[in-house]
Amino acid sequence: MTQIPEDAIKCLDKGFVRLVDSMGGDDAIVQSARVSYGKGTSKVSQDRGLIRYLMRHRHTTPFEMVEFKYHCKMPIFVARQWVRHRTANINEYSLRYSEARDEFYYPEAEHIQYQSALNKQGRSGKVPKELTDKVLKYFREMSDRSFEMYKELNEAGLARELIRAILPVNLYTEWYWKNDLHNLLHFIGLRSDPHAQYEIRVFSDAMAESVKKVAPFAWEAYQDYVVRGMRFSRIEQSLLEKNLPARVIDDILEDIFYQITATLHNNKSREETDLFPLYQKQGGSDSKVDFKLKWDSGEIEIGNVRELREFKTKLESLKN
Ligand SMILES: Cc1cc2nc3c(=O)[nH]c(=O)nc-3n(C[C@H](O)[C@H](O)[C@H](O)COP(=O)(O)OP(=O)(O)OC[C@H]3O[C@@H](n4cnc5c(N)ncnc54)[C@H](O)[C@@H]3O)c2cc1C
Repeated sequence: MTQIPEDAIKCLDKGFVRLVDSMGGDDAIVQSARVSYGKGTSKVSQDRGLIRYLMRHRHTTPFEMVEFKYHCKMPIFVARQWVRHRTANINEYSLRYSEARDEFYYPEAEHIQYQSALNKQGRSGKVPKELTDKVLKYFREMSDRSFEMYKELNEAGLARELIRAILPVNLYTEWYWKNDLHNLLHFIGLRSDPHAQYEIRVFSDAMAESVKKVAPFAWEAYQDYVVRGMRFSRIEQSLLEKNLPARVIDDILEDIFYQITATLHNNKSREETDLFPLYQKQGGSDSKVDFKLKWDSGEIEIGNVRELREFKTKLESLKN
């Protein structure tokens, strides 16, 4: 099997992720989206805005225009989780055709932990050295012995497709794995999450590195709206509606009116005298004096007008 190539990211003790090829990037997302929204002018800042808009509104197909092809090597028990992501195209090393190699995953001592009492799909707690050593010894004994048996049967001419079943799931396999950006982000969202198993998280994190480079705006938008975004269920919204004081919502709305005004001014500079009316037009209710004080403080953040208006609508719906 392949040793770790120079341009690969090493994962676990013997695995790796290597980006073999990619097609498109942020520009391909924008290009395809403009078929839906019309051509218009395209500046980098507008491309970023459009990608963020698409991500916010879960208009996902433009993200499928970008493709990634990886060469990866991972233990079989990691591959079993990985293969659940059905939208990928995969071609795996064949143990029917080729001989197995003596390459097994041995966890590092710090990753040998107890079964978590809180999370049935997790591990926690520090294991004493004596027990860690025993775990590693068992891993090695089982891997060495099973490989000896495999070799013996292989040399005796037995069918590889059958005798491979003797080998344990910490044996390394490798594959070519191709997917589009939309589904790759979905994969990374699930598998780089702290709830995912450490051994697959390492691979997912390595793939994330190439996404950051190939499609940086899409990556940023995915982080902002999916990974770090928050959705409220109907029940949660109803609790917020009941318990969030109207004055708190009004304070946030005021901030939004200022931000929209500052952003509009930033996008297209206005005369000084037009700023207060512009702020009032957005819904702002501070007096002219208070407006000037706040404006002159220079503390108003610039945002995205469309996004701020969407936020305003959401907040207002909580008040109703
Ligand atoms: C922390 C964690 C724990 C897990 N635990 C278990 C477990 O205990 N047991 C277990 O069996 N699995 C488990 N899984 C796997 C999980 O249930 C999913 O199979 C896996 O995460 C792939 O997700 P997906 O189906 O969204 O992804 P993909 O297969 O990549 O699909 C991407 C998206 O395409 C769409 N799609 C793909 N195929 C279809 C289809 N046939 N029909 C309709 N829509 C489709 C869906 O919208 C889907 O979200 C776990 C996953 C995680 C992350």
